[in-house]
Amino acid sequence: AFGDNQLERYPTTHDPSLLPWDHADHLLLQRTQQWLTTFSPQSINETEPQKHILVINDHFGALSCALALAARLTHWNDSYLSHKATEYNLKRNQLPAISGASSHHSLPAQVDLIIIRPTKNLSFYRQQLTLLAYLYPATPILIGIMQKFITTNLRTINENFVDNLNPGRAEKKARVLQGEMVSSVKQLPEEFSSFVIPPMRDVPSLIIANLPNVFSHQSLDIGARFLIEHFPRDLNVTAIADLGCGNGVLSIVASFYYPNSRIFGFDESYSAVRAAEETFRLNDRSNGQFITSNIFSEASEQKFDLILCNPPFHQQRRTTTDTAHFMFKQSLQKLQPNGAMIVVANRHLDYHKVLRKLFGNVTFIASNNKFVVLQSTFNPSEE
Ligand code: SAM
Repeated sequence: AFGDNQLERYPTTHDPSLLPWDHADHLLLQRTQQWLTTFSPQSINETEPQKHILVINDHFGALSCALALAARLTHWNDSYLSHKATEYNLKRNQLPAISGASSHHSLPAQVDLIIIRPTKNLSFYRQQLTLLAYLYPATPILIGIMQKFITTNLRTINENFVDNLNPGRAEKKARVLQGEMVSSVKQLPEEFSSFVIPPMRDVPSLIIANLPNVFSHQSLDIGARFLIEHFPRDLNVTAIADLGCGNGVLSIVASFYYPNSRIFGFDESYSAVRAAEETFRLNDRSNGQFITSNIFSEASEQKFDLILCNPPFHQQRRTTTDTAHFMFKQSLQKLQPNGAMIVVANRHLDYHKVLRKLFGNVTFIASNNKFVVLQSTFNPSEE
């Protein structure tokens, strides 16, 4: 339990060493409660909380649950999984729902305190702090982090965007830094960045839109490139899914090879979905639709003729193949008979064994010393 609350990770895990909170959450909660006692002493037991706290990057909702009755909360997170985890944990503990923000567009006009867990992706953390400084100059901020993740780059970002920065004391390998947002950011930075990929195998040069939290947001991922180089162009398909679509790079290539199909991209990152939409807009394609989802959780009943997947290899800071396994398993349920799943992955992961076990068949479309492109077909008689 975390404070008075029983919490679970989402997706749930059988690994008892993986908790839905860490010591940085504990310390950050302590400091937030101290802040509330100082600045809003009556709020702890009040039915109508006075202070509005912006909670950012709360992985599984531990902070949101612990503070749900003590303050008005808004939870900003780019991850659909974290929003779901928070929602479930609030419900499980009979706590009121809180408002969630998936980008700075849905943040409140004013808040009294910001509490944040820096993301592993420091470009995204920098962008979050830039937006916070622009929206909430001089507002107090508490930054909770495990000591081992404090790098020179993270320090520089903090120093650039937080005034009167007090580094706090380390406790149980965690630390809470405290200060106020700077008042010098007068303009919102450009939202999207982009990179161009040169023509490849009858696909013209493409502009790929990106946001800082999107996978491989500065250049084409080498795994994705390898898949594009071996992309099958002669399948009979009308509905295509791009599972973990990121910036939509595989979807847009599919839209050129299969111009009469509809492409549905799914990603758990709100930024990824927005970037993929922007990629289609920039390249004048209209046959793509992008959905924020845990794998296929938000998909319609529709089945697909082709599922493309360059699977993720970590969830938050943890390296894992679990998500890839879930993706393969769910894909089997979402394919039309004779529909194909095409996966690109590091060869050492041995996903061909997993796919063969699930689908009863697997073909190596291509392989080099680092990557494989695998195809499995849903053949109902092999189930
Ligand atoms: N398709 C893009 C490409 O090839 O560049 C991105 C591939 S990246 C290796 C994997 C993607 O899966 C990331 O964009 C990540 O956000 C997404 N992802 C991770 N967990 C997910 C989940 N549970 N449901 C949906 N997407 C997920």
